[in-house]
Amino acid sequence: RDNSSLTKMLIVFTVSGGGLVAYSEAKPDNGMNAITSTEADGKKKRVVVLGTGWAGTSFLKNLKNSSYDVQVISPRNYFAFTPLLPSVTCGTVEPRSIVEPIRNIVRKKNVDVRYWEAECFKIDADNKKVYCRSNLTTNLDGEEEFVVDYDYLVISVGARANTFNIPGVAENCHFLKEIEDAQRIRRTVIDCFERASLPTLTDEERKKILHFVVVGGGPTGVEFAAELHDYVNEDLVKLYPKAKDSVKITLLEATDHILNMFDKRITAFAEEKFQRDGIDVKTGAMVVKVSDKEISTKEVKNGGNVSSMPYGMAVWSTGIGTRPVIMDFMTQIGQTNRRALASDEWLRVEGCDSVYALGDCATINQRKVVEDICAIFRIADKDNSGTLTVKEFQEVLDDICERYPQVGLYLKNRQMNSLVDLLKDSKGDVVKESVEVDLEEFRLALSQVDSQMKNLPATAQVAAQQGSYLADCFNRMEECEKNPEGPLRFRGEGRHRFRPFRYKHFGQFAPLGGEQTAAQLPGDWVSIGQSSQWLWYSVYASKLVSWRTRALVISDWGRRFIFGRDSSGI
Ligand code: FAD
Repeated sequence: RDNSSLTKMLIVFTVSGGGLVAYSEAKPDNGMNAITSTEADGKKKRVVVLGTGWAGTSFLKNLKNSSYDVQVISPRNYFAFTPLLPSVTCGTVEPRSIVEPIRNIVRKKNVDVRYWEAECFKIDADNKKVYCRSNLTTNLDGEEEFVVDYDYLVISVGARANTFNIPGVAENCHFLKEIEDAQRIRRTVIDCFERASLPTLTDEERKKILHFVVVGGGPTGVEFAAELHDYVNEDLVKLYPKAKDSVKITLLEATDHILNMFDKRITAFAEEKFQRDGIDVKTGAMVVKVSDKEISTKEVKNGGNVSSMPYGMAVWSTGIGTRPVIMDFMTQIGQTNRRALASDEWLRVEGCDSVYALGDCATINQRKVVEDICAIFRIADKDNSGTLTVKEFQEVLDDICERYPQVGLYLKNRQMNSLVDLLKDSKGDVVKESVEVDLEEFRLALSQVDSQMKNLPATAQVAAQQGSYLADCFNRMEECEKNPEGPLRFRGEGRHRFRPFRYKHFGQFAPLGGEQTAAQLPGDWVSIGQSSQWLWYSVYASKLVSWRTRALVISDWGRRFIFGRDSSGI
């Protein structure tokens, strides 16, 4: 298909599926306070943003169009730079160095932004309202719940730690999601060393108290284990010399290897390094129960033997789960049995008008991608003849590559050859099977693609890119309404207003302690060692949200090099 001819077919439509939404005056709802607009004339569209994490903050930072009335609702009045949370657990970096008040971030903007410190507990997409509860007690008339109307809703509430309902985890383990978690871990580590130093303890009790267990061999668990090892060996052993021989760090992982999402070379290096460092990595060990004294694990292989180990402190880092407000919303809109809100490639929540979901609470629906790809085939069959020429087929693949680079790449690498063989005749210029047959074959190929294609990872990188993509769409809403720039619509006519969201992967780091970091950059370029550690320092310093936090973090790193980590336990 000739793409240039398609670009001429400019048919205007709205991404929200509707025209201008009436700007009604806010009224008390169910006895709750209602938040009114700052604009008496009601010309501005109300955008409500839930959450001040990576996705929400990136959206706010990049929103430049002053024609919106923006309200931000989050129980946290600051943005936290999560990649440095493991460093906070051991005092390498101070908690205040990695947070920035959200009011500071939006202060200098020409966009009308108001912030409410509250959590949203219900989303009513039918009536375009969100119900919120403040975690602060007001001393006026005691009203702590209020309702906010919106024209556009941006859901970026992130996720919570996933305990998989394993008994005792929520009660006895530490999590590492928020600043408060990192502070609690830091205090507990020092408490363990102080308790182990008391004169009344036996050696066995001392060993139990100084047994630190990390559950989950993903990047966060591995980084925390490495930080803790450095903290103990570089700082704490000097202050607690007798504790040295009693300290043990165990890393439990249910699958066969740690850092599964990384290149095999990095996994192997990390496992060897941890072994050299004396960190006990137990793979194939699934935690089945945690009591206040012991962790019980079941061997995934070898007959599923269950054994228990005493511990002093356990950190749970096994992935993320859905927040209650999102679960409730998913039930309302018929998206049950999912981990996250399904959105399309424009980040619109499926089946909801003007609601967007970004970051860890959302996932782009892959099943729809398959349907869309089949629709691309149908569009390509312009004369409805039931056949495609090889040239048309090539164009279809180009279109797929543009819309879904991951699918396109996979097809080009693995499936394309067999598909072309299947479709072209002996002369190589005409597809001999009918489109229906082709689609069937293609569906089969796609089901393989589907199983190999993973959802976008739940990372800050994805969340931040989604936030800035959506802000860009909002900034150019009117402009793109006149001149749509997206691909052709499958259902209905014309083009989509915006290009779909495209994730650009810039690589990932795995700090392994001892000033050694593994870096996996695009193109499967792997680097491990001190040079990557310096790359890690520079990338994270540059990604910090403000010059203030940048200066604080760099000075924390300098302080750590000169004086070591703080061990006062406050
Ligand atoms: P979050 O950043 O979690 O933000 C969610 C926001 O929503 C918060 O402000 C929260 O207070 C608010 N909120 C919660 N509930 C409600 C509610 N009911 N109503 C309103 N607001 C609500 N990713 C990387 O790419 N690289 C890394 O090195 C990396 N390291 C990490 C280290 C750790 C220890 C952790 C925990 C995560 C790390 N991540 C990393 C992952 C990254 O932090 C997440 O993917 C990212 O935070 C997701 O952004 P988000 O905006 O979706 O959610």
